[in-house]
Amino acid sequence: MTVVIIGGGIVGVATAYYLTRAGVDTVVCERSTLGAGSTERALGGIRAQFSTPANVALSKRAMAVWDDFEATFGVDIGYRKHGYLFVTVEAETAARFERTVETQREYGVPSEYLDPADAQAYLPELRADRYVGATYSPADGTADPHLALGGFAEAAREAGAEIRTGTAVTDVVFEAVESGEERVAGVETDAGFVPAEFVVNAAGPWAETIAAMADLDLPISPRRRQIAVVEPTIPYPEDAPLTVDTETGVHFAPDREGDALVAGFFDAADPEYDPEAYPTDYDLDWAATAIEYAADCASYFGADTRVKNGWSGLYAVTPDHSPIIEESRPGFVNAVGFSGHGFMHAPATAQVVTDLVRCGETSIVDLGSFRRDRFADADTRAESNVI
Ligand SMILES: Cc1cc2nc3c(=O)[nH]c(=O)nc-3n(C[C@H](O)[C@H](O)[C@H](O)COP(=O)(O)OP(=O)(O)OC[C@H]3O[C@@H](n4cnc5c(N)ncnc54)[C@H](O)[C@@H]3O)c2cc1C
Repeated sequence: MTVVIIGGGIVGVATAYYLTRAGVDTVVCERSTLGAGSTERALGGIRAQFSTPANVALSKRAMAVWDDFEATFGVDIGYRKHGYLFVTVEAETAARFERTVETQREYGVPSEYLDPADAQAYLPELRADRYVGATYSPADGTADPHLALGGFAEAAREAGAEIRTGTAVTDVVFEAVESGEERVAGVETDAGFVPAEFVVNAAGPWAETIAAMADLDLPISPRRRQIAVVEPTIPYPEDAPLTVDTETGVHFAPDREGDALVAGFFDAADPEYDPEAYPTDYDLDWAATAIEYAADCASYFGADTRVKNGWSGLYAVTPDHSPIIEESRPGFVNAVGFSGHGFMHAPATAQVVTDLVRCGETSIVDLGSFRRDRFADADTRAESNVI
């Protein structure tokens, strides 16, 4: 059996690794270079502090891989468990925090609900007086997406996966089978036809375009998100948490030597961008607002905080901020719409896709939450811990 994976980002390449290790012939088609989509633009956050059970389950599964990454793949991905701290000024959000911590703890996540004054134990310069509630988990952290992608790619190649960069998929081809149904037969690329029993859409912000090649309409919007590397007035401690102010959306994490990565989305309008043509640099006005909000949250970011660098990339956003992972047509599997959490969830996603290809089901997570037709259901639970 041959599987073609469309997209050489973290999802496609991790999937190639697990499929190949399971004995499946795997070909990755990547139109550009590995990681050229969202993966190389991610901040690298890894957390289990989600609100929906399905996302917590994906995190738990993925974190088991991230924890052992160096031992398994022989690559140090700079995984630092400095924790994530969420803070809120809203009593209603604080009440939600208490419920989400309950959900997380049911899955064995060591998160806790905190009074803001107690959160200062983790973030000494937090302006605790402004806040009414917080949650913290010491198991969360950050890693380097570039190194993680390289680790998976090398291991996938060693296991026998074929990774074709500079190869764009131009169509997904189906053929009629005996039952009268149509089933995947392969993909057309700019370098010719590649036959396959399964095709996996792991095309990140391009996922909607690839799905359309399979006559599927997926609600995935590429939305621009920015990151600034800043030198704060007070050095940001390397063991301080990735801190999220849930009302403004500003979040900041330790970088190196006291620098911080500051991110967040603050505009009223959130237009869709063409992944072929969007501003990949960061905006100075945006960075000024990000630092202002970060300064409101914690006193590291004084008036002389300096922006050193920055960039922007695309989240592939679904209406409820959770992914679509399913075999949507016979032989055509979507692993798309990861919003802001596709990097951290990639090892678990890859294992789920491997299960779907090999036996049509998985015990890793309840895939009901990741169906593409869930958005019409009134009881669909949107992920609320989004950044
Ligand atoms: C600013 C920013 C910060 C982020 N921070 C985090 C974070 O802290 N933690 C986290 O978990 N996630 C984060 N994310 C999200 C994360 O980057 C994505 O969810 C993840 O990288 C998705 O990986 P992917 O493999 O699905 O997609 P991508 O990395 O986008 O890969 C898709 C690939 O498909 C290729 N492709 C497209 N069309 C074709 C075609 N026709 N033929 C062949 N190949 C094609 C593209 O070239 C691309 O390389 C962040 C994203 C951004 C933009």
